[in-house]
Order: sequence, then C-alpha cells, then structure tokens
Amino acid sequence: MRCVNNVKLNRFGRRCPVNEHRMNEMYDVSKIREDFPILQREVYGKPLIYLDNGATTQKPRQVVEAITDEYYSVNANVHRGVHFLSQQATELHEASRETVRRFLNARSANEIVFTRGTTESVNLFVSSFGEEFMQEGDEVILSVMEHHSNIVPWQLLAARKGIALKVIPMNERGELLFDEYEKLFSDRTKVVSVTHVSNVLGTVNPVRRMIAVAHARGVPVLVDGAQSVPHLSVDVQDLDVDFFAFSGHKIYGPTGVGVLYGKEEWLDRLPPYQGGGEMIQSVTFEKTVFNELPYKFEAGTPDYIGTVSLAKAIDYVSAIGMDKVAAYEHELTEYAMRRLKAIEGMRIFGDAEQKSSVISFLVGDIHHFDMGTLLDRLGIAVRTGHHCAQPLMRRLGIEGTVRASFALYNTKEEIDALVAGIERVRKMFYSA
Ligand code: PMP
Repeated sequence: MRCVNNVKLNRFGRRCPVNEHRMNEMYDVSKIREDFPILQREVYGKPLIYLDNGATTQKPRQVVEAITDEYYSVNANVHRGVHFLSQQATELHEASRETVRRFLNARSANEIVFTRGTTESVNLFVSSFGEEFMQEGDEVILSVMEHHSNIVPWQLLAARKGIALKVIPMNERGELLFDEYEKLFSDRTKVVSVTHVSNVLGTVNPVRRMIAVAHARGVPVLVDGAQSVPHLSVDVQDLDVDFFAFSGHKIYGPTGVGVLYGKEEWLDRLPPYQGGGEMIQSVTFEKTVFNELPYKFEAGTPDYIGTVSLAKAIDYVSAIGMDKVAAYEHELTEYAMRRLKAIEGMRIFGDAEQKSSVISFLVGDIHHFDMGTLLDRLGIAVRTGHHCAQPLMRRLGIEGTVRASFALYNTKEEIDALVAGIERVRKMFYSA
C-alpha cells in the first residue's frame, strides 16, 4: 500500500476502502505468532523464518490441542457406534462438516465431502465425473499453470477413455488469456478444471468469470482451491462453482484431510469413487445400495480427528477474519515485491494484477537449489524446484524457481531478512 498526498492507495492505485487500512492497523501479528510455537524455534542457531507456506502452513496451538484432546478424551470410530464416545465423536465430526459448509458458504452440509486433500478431491472428481460423463473424443479445459494434481488425473483418464486435454495459455505477467480460454470451448467440451490461485506465480485467476463462460455453454467447473482458501475468502455460491477442492494442511489444519465441495445436484449424479464401509446403505452379494450424500463418497473410517482439527483451524482463521488476513498478506506481498525487485539480477515469475502471497524468482544465473540451500543456512525456509508444475516451468523456459510464500504470521522483518539473505548469496556468487 502506498501513500500519495496522505491518501492511502492500494497496489492498483485505487483509494483503499477505509476498512482496509483500519483492518491492517488492528492486525496484531505478534499476538498471532504466539499461537504458533514452531515460529519460536531456531535452525542452525538462527531464528526460523518460515516462508514455505505454499507447501504447508504451521499449526496454531488451538489445532494441535484439538488433536490431543480428541485422542485423549473422545476417540471412538464415528457413525457406527451406539455408545457414548462414538456418538460424541460423530457429533464433533459432523459439526466439523458444518464448519466447512459455513466457511465456504455451501448451501448444504451434504455438499461437503471429506477427502485426504486436494489431490484426492481432484482424483475423486475426475474418476467419478469422467466415468459417468466423458466418452472418447470429449475434452477437458485446464490451464497452463495447473499443479500436477490437476493434470495427471486427467491424463490417466485420457489413457483409459481417450479424452483430450485443452490448455489455456497465459501472458508474460502470468495471467490467463481470457479470449483464448473462450476459444477453447467446442461441442466436445465436457468440463473445465482450473486452479484458483497458482502455487508458482501467485496469480489469482478470474474463476467467477470463467465459470460464467463455462455455464453459458452448459459446462461444469472444478476449481482447485488449494492455494486460495488460505488467503482469500471463498464463497462457493457467489462463485457459482460446481466443484471446489482444498487441503486442510495449507490452511493451518492437519495433514491427511481435505475437502471436495460439490453442488448437490452434481454429486447426486456421480457414481462413488471407492467402495467399502460407510458408503453403503445395504449390501448383498447380488447388489449394493449406496448411502446418501455425502457418505456415498466417504468409504472407510474417515479421518475424524483430522476433520475436527481442520474445523479448529477454520475457526482460528475465521476469528481473525479472512478479509483481514487477505489485506495483511496483500500488504506483505506488495512490500516483498517492491524490495525483491530492487535486487540486482532479480527475475520474478508472476506479476499479475491480481496476485496472492506467492513469489517465485531467480537471481542472475544462480541455481534455485543453491539459493535455497544457502538461504536455509541463514534460517530461511523457502521452496526450490518445479513446484509440481513442470508444464508451467516449460512455458517459462526454466527448470525451477525459488519460491517464498507468506502466511498470516509472517512479518516485514522476515521479508527484510529474506532480502538481506538473497543479497548475501548474490555477493557470494558475483563479487570478485
Ligand atoms: N493444487 C495446488 C495449486 C497446490 O498448490 C497443491 C499443493 N502444493 C495441490 C494442488 C496438492 O495439494 P495436496 O498435496 O495437499 O493434495
């Protein structure tokens, strides 16, 4: 955020709504950091600066305590027991579904399917939708910036069914080309499957508009929200999205649990993904009647400890307020972009008008792996490599990047340390 003539302007040069800067003034990051014990630790004798939040976020006490509390005092398998503990565990598990429903503003808790994470959510969708609605020669539209978890499942389906993948290109700033997107539709297009926010470029794709275009042609849309729900407030009804996937561990929750939201009318029409306990109403050797939604898609014992602690994570971010989180992270990203761009030899990949708190870069011809390793020795955790987006790397003409990704607990001082660290590494490579 900049100040011109005492008027605060946001990164688009527009006057910030009063609330936006009031909110940031009220945002107490040091208090938030107290909830994350790991942020107090040292690595190599240096304070940890954790900037790998795109890969996974750290967990607040409230989430970790929910896990131990549940194991210590409520643990019992859900849905099947008549006994007290099983019923209590079931209530907590189902209350968590309601928490997710509220968080996404879904119409019904039946639309919230618990999975192991985004990857499983996408696989579930591709497998069930592809089975029911796609034939040889049909097409899916993806974007060039997809994570492998929204490419490979489609390729597996392509190998089984002979469907074709159509890819939306992007411009140099890392923004999808909307005209090209519209041109990709044909009478064989059966589905669009795109990421909300790129885990490499930070681009926030205009999914609302993209969904409207698809719907005008009668085509449903899956949005990969792995990198959006931790940073933006998402309303599935407002987006009118048909399916939406995310992972608990990227939004301060536990590993091993995630969500597939699906409109009820769509979920009703899809066949189950896996067979087993929980997903049935009755079974004989001749015939199985499937359970109602959402259980039809939840074969086996669910990760009920995970769902309860995921709900705690959602309660945690909701108590701060997703709008405040978004405004704060936006300010951090603005600051980081400005400071990083000033480094000699800096190349940043992804400078979209709508950008989330992910910054990928290379400095001179320093290999991303060398940069990441040397930053690590300074206590700075960043990610290096292709970020599970090799087609995007190919499009950018590189093998990998260094990626810094910020969360609600990061600070400008940490960004200063990152900049100082990069400068130090640069001098090691380039000073005589
Ligand atoms: N999509 C995107 C955009 C991601 O960033 C990630 C994780 N890096 C995934 C999908 C996969 O998430 P998970 O490994 O939690 O299933």
